[in-house]
Amino acid sequence: MKKLLFLFLIISFSISAQQVDLSYYLPKDVTYNSVIPTPKSVIGHEVGEWHVTHDKLVEYMKALAASSDRISIEDRGRTFEGRPLLLLTITSPKNHQNLEVIRTKHIEATNNASVNVSNAPIVVYQGFSIHGNEPSGANAGLAAAYYLAAAQGNKIDELLNNTVILFDPSLNPDGLQRFAYWANTNKAQNINPDPNDREYREVWPGGRTNHYWFDMNRDWLPVQLPESRARIASFHKWLPNILTDHHEMGTNSSFFFQPGIPSRTNPLTPQMNQDLTKEIATYHAKAFDKIGSMYYSEESFDDFYYGKGSTFPDINGSIGILFEQASSRGHAQESDNGILTFPFTIRNQFTAALSTLEAAKNMRVKILQYQQDFYKNSRNSGENKAIVFGDEKDAAKSFHLAEVLKRHQIKIHEVKADFSSNGK
Ligand SMILES: [Zn+2]
Repeated sequence: MKKLLFLFLIISFSISAQQVDLSYYLPKDVTYNSVIPTPKSVIGHEVGEWHVTHDKLVEYMKALAASSDRISIEDRGRTFEGRPLLLLTITSPKNHQNLEVIRTKHIEATNNASVNVSNAPIVVYQGFSIHGNEPSGANAGLAAAYYLAAAQGNKIDELLNNTVILFDPSLNPDGLQRFAYWANTNKAQNINPDPNDREYREVWPGGRTNHYWFDMNRDWLPVQLPESRARIASFHKWLPNILTDHHEMGTNSSFFFQPGIPSRTNPLTPQMNQDLTKEIATYHAKAFDKIGSMYYSEESFDDFYYGKGSTFPDINGSIGILFEQASSRGHAQESDNGILTFPFTIRNQFTAALSTLEAAKNMRVKILQYQQDFYKNSRNSGENKAIVFGDEKDAAKSFHLAEVLKRHQIKIHEVKADFSSNGK
């Protein structure tokens, strides 16, 4: 009898882990436009049933862009393995017709403190799974993009009228592909949640990094990799007000959102940035309470190094937000909190993506004003000195530093004539 019961438990678990459908992720009180293809109708499996490969992710994002007048799509270049670096722009059809005017005005507001921002849309950059083996973000992106394209009603209309979403479905295509191959190849017909199962023991070097094993979440400042170059160009083109960075952490944890440890915030980041981050966090907390998921804030993770995706925006008048979901690192794994399924991790990331947009919509004018003030205060801070750099013996050093500065749109000029200062 005990054996029978055990067998029954295994069967019922394997069924519950695999039979998830799209409604598990989506808000319940919304109707969806049947013209918009669901992820399953394009990629052939339900969100969370398998780890989405990057090629399927691309296929779905292109299908969405082709079927929705809320979405335009651009191909910003190639990874080292030749995968496209896509960016979706998601906003109301009316804003789409006027997009370049909206963008120009948005940038103008950072240069001219007299521009009135109260009627302007807020710009939100949502980026997923820069660490490729932290895949719940990119997989949640399937459901989030579907929701933004297909949801109907006043709530979504109001959101899209007031928001321009720059949707980066995979910040690390080569790493995501490498991890999807591992998790899918080692998935059994009946999922085995034992942490010692091969599925949860990805081989070295793993999907965290890009093709050359660089951690791209350290490259937002140096901008040396093709993925970062495309992304930083998009960032400066739009100067988003909020940028979200969806990650995963240890399996036994829950869900983290910023603010991080207060004493580990970079001192150059304005206090107001942290205050707004905290106010945005109330939207995440409310949304997680609603679905009954555990979360925490302020007890771990720094907001110090500007080469990270959640911190880089903070020194550019934007608000960077780090999300960290406990990782199932496969399809379902035992943890201190019970069995952690891949769909559960995806649902949390999806929920955080939507609570970010809800906060952006409700706090729009306050956040737009913050960005405008940030640039005004920076100009007036008396820190606007010019810095002279160069090297008598190694011109390449100066050249490459100039290259990095140019990627950040920092103005550089050659000096017109030799001069000396402080004996140099
Ligand atoms: Zn990460």
